[in-house]
Amino acid sequence: MHHFTLKDGALYAEDVSLETIAAQVGTPVYVYSSATLRRHYRVLRAACDARRAELGDALIAFAVKANANLSVLATLAAEGCGADTVSEGEIRRALAAGVPAQRIIFSGVGKTDAELAFALGAGVRQINVESGVELDRLAAAAAAMGVRATVAIRVNPNVGAGGHAKITTGGAGDKFGVPVAEALDLYVRAAASPSLYPIGLACHIGSQIKDLTPLMAAFQVLRDMTLTLRGRGLAVERLDLGGGLAAPYADSDETPTVEAYVDMAAEALRGLEVEAAFEPGRLLAANAGVLVSRVIQVNARSDGRRFLVLDAAMNDLMRPALYDAFHGLVPVRPRAGETAAHDVVGPVCETGDTFARDRELAPLEAGDLVAFTGAGAYGAVMSGEYNSRPLVPEVLVDGDRWAVVRPRPTYDAMLAREPRAPWLS
Ligand SMILES: *Cc1c(COP(=O)(O)O)cnc(C)c1O
Repeated sequence: MHHFTLKDGALYAEDVSLETIAAQVGTPVYVYSSATLRRHYRVLRAACDARRAELGDALIAFAVKANANLSVLATLAAEGCGADTVSEGEIRRALAAGVPAQRIIFSGVGKTDAELAFALGAGVRQINVESGVELDRLAAAAAAMGVRATVAIRVNPNVGAGGHAKITTGGAGDKFGVPVAEALDLYVRAAASPSLYPIGLACHIGSQIKDLTPLMAAFQVLRDMTLTLRGRGLAVERLDLGGGLAAPYADSDETPTVEAYVDMAAEALRGLEVEAAFEPGRLLAANAGVLVSRVIQVNARSDGRRFLVLDAAMNDLMRPALYDAFHGLVPVRPRAGETAAHDVVGPVCETGDTFARDRELAPLEAGDLVAFTGAGAYGAVMSGEYNSRPLVPEVLVDGDRWAVVRPRPTYDAMLAREPRAPWLS
């Protein structure tokens, strides 16, 4: 469900025409819908609240890495959404956007001592520890600061899942989390440390997961571990169920409903009397954003291939190059006429700068605007300036209001970031 719809023959974000935004901000540009972000959050919130008996006062912590824009985070924070963070920078963003520290989870496989100290100083809700060496470093950091760190142990349940090998995180060979037996040992060790407070367990097995079965298997592992730890006299108060639920990208994508997902989680946690946490990224943000681009030219080559050359490129939207990801592509003002197969490419000098091959598209001409759908998650956050293309701007729409929430840097600003080595001036 999203709020990008055709009105009077042109695509709108809520009540704002994408043509208006493109005319004023230029292209390429990311456009986000506040109503869609809120709706996705509220659907998940309502599903959790309906299963309070099993999930407690569940925390929904948006995975900041999916979309770190401060206005996006502030929109979700205003709904009561927390944040799942993986770096000091993300913690700082969440705090700056108004997420209370007590709703911030700090995850990640390689937190530095400085980041651990920062998180402790900020008073985040919990730190999800991913290894024995990290647990020791956290204990030392907490002891040095005279505080007690609230920790969850991230278990690797040996259940891999996700839409692509590069977004699977829960398989035994993946770098994330620790195996079950070791996680139980770490929990016991944490409980014995005066500077650590083990509060629960966490898992996150992958992204773009379209099948509830592996998620259920992972939650069952958390359940069994909870019972084991309690059998040893240890308290387990929270279970962090991670993120990973798929968002529909193509019209043909069949993804589990949020209700089915939450009900499954509730069944897995039934009777445990824990407080659950969810860490959705893609689920909340993917379909809340589009990347608007202008057609530079349509290159109908003599060998029969037809290239749609856009002013957006892999540096603006990396997912197709990185994980062969699919994004819908729709004209902002559709023309009548026969569709034809197009290879959709950007201007960057890499063969990987190909968004789609043989995509059937209605007629398009140079100067036309198109929108990549499903671009609200893992889009702008991964953008860069490869080929010296200025960082893509971001716009947030809310009803009939809109604002540039990350401006496009000027060429001068881009060059000014690089002071000349003094011996070269
Ligand atoms: C990336 C990540 C998420 C979010 O994943 P989605 O597939 O976007 O829901 C949640 N938790 C952790 C620990 C992550 O690394």
